[in-house]
Amino acid sequence: MKSENIYKGFGICDEVYGYCSRIAESLKPRFEKIDEIAEYNQAKIIRAMQEARVSEACLLETTGYGYNDIGRDTLEAVYAAAFHTEDALVRSQIVCGTHALATALFGNTRPGDAVFSPVGLPYDTLQEVIGLRPSAGSLKEYGVDFSYVDLLPEGSFDWEGIRAGIRDNTRLVTIQRSRGYSDRHSLSVAEIGELIRFIRSIKPDAVIMVDNCYGEFIETIEPTDVGADMIVGSLIKNPGGGIAPVGGYIAGTRRCVENAAARLTAPGLGKEVGPSLGNSRLLYQGFFMGPHVAASAEKGAIFAANIYEGLGFDVTPDGREPREDIIQAITFHDPQGVISFSKGIQKAAPVDSFVTPEPAPMPGYSDQVIMAAGCFISGSSIELSCDGPLREPYTVYFQGGLTWYHSKFGVMMSLQQMVEDGFVQKERLI
Ligand SMILES: *Cc1c(COP(=O)(O)O)cnc(C)c1O
Repeated sequence: MKSENIYKGFGICDEVYGYCSRIAESLKPRFEKIDEIAEYNQAKIIRAMQEARVSEACLLETTGYGYNDIGRDTLEAVYAAAFHTEDALVRSQIVCGTHALATALFGNTRPGDAVFSPVGLPYDTLQEVIGLRPSAGSLKEYGVDFSYVDLLPEGSFDWEGIRAGIRDNTRLVTIQRSRGYSDRHSLSVAEIGELIRFIRSIKPDAVIMVDNCYGEFIETIEPTDVGADMIVGSLIKNPGGGIAPVGGYIAGTRRCVENAAARLTAPGLGKEVGPSLGNSRLLYQGFFMGPHVAASAEKGAIFAANIYEGLGFDVTPDGREPREDIIQAITFHDPQGVISFSKGIQKAAPVDSFVTPEPAPMPGYSDQVIMAAGCFISGSSIELSCDGPLREPYTVYFQGGLTWYHSKFGVMMSLQQMVEDGFVQKERLI
């Protein structure tokens, strides 16, 4: 076939191509199911845009204070309609997912309150926001406590631990949908719903926040459909569709969103200020593309799982498990494995394909991290990318690909690099 020839030009050998093609072929029935979810979510977004009466004027540029910014206000109405919430804050002034989560946390807690996580330690960068690692301006410095309970070893919720962990001053419960850099599984929306019902039975007035990063559009419902007060995420992940140049969102109850807005801008100003600048069109278009892009990335993750599982590496989720996010963890038990894999991904990039990724310290992370990303949007992890902290058991987290074809190509290039670096014997591919 022609694609075989074009891949040869990238140095992909017959064995790698043949092995990858057989696995891609075997996944077709499963990919059809992913397409069905994407089709549903596509219609959901179009309906939200129609209900909110998105017009050409919404796509224009605004500046300064951004009073009465119709593009911004309508976009927030679109998010609220799509995620079935009372309100939403969707801003390019929210610079990343951590910022969105910090804004939601600070906005919705007060000194003396406690935050509780029933699903283990939150994502690395959140640990400084909370103050688990000393950090200027953390929640801890403002007198907001934090505690957590891990999942049980077999992966289920620790109901008794959760009951004991929720105290009188527990104001906010934070639930992270995706596993991040931890070794637990990612949560399905149904599991999150079950957890929320339990928490409400103990503390009906707790504010329940879900860190929705990487989870958007993987299912036909979101955590706000099963009782979450707010969901929070980054626009350089799934809901930005690879097109949003920056941004974050908080969608939830009017109260939660208002509290977060007061923190993002200033008390008394809230959502009223913050110009969309020239970003509105990109944020609308990215949200519109989101379901398709998330589906492509999910296919790439499943493909990677099957490729590396077939070669005897530990992969989570495994090749057959249902998916709750777009992240694929592959464990090499060797730092060189993480480095080789990352090099291959970088070589598949449309931008910066000629640079070599190397481990380095990163703000917000306690270990050295290696990242491969040759993205149109800097650091965008809905685009083909991988990253891994250089620590035991040497796991790489692979994600993204704006198209399935790119994601597939990235995985093939990673395998080719593994072969060239002697990690995978060619004979194993036959
Ligand atoms: C990416 C991510 C974050 C942080 O987002 P940044 O945009 O990197 O700041 C938080 N939580 C989870 C689960 C994530 O995947």
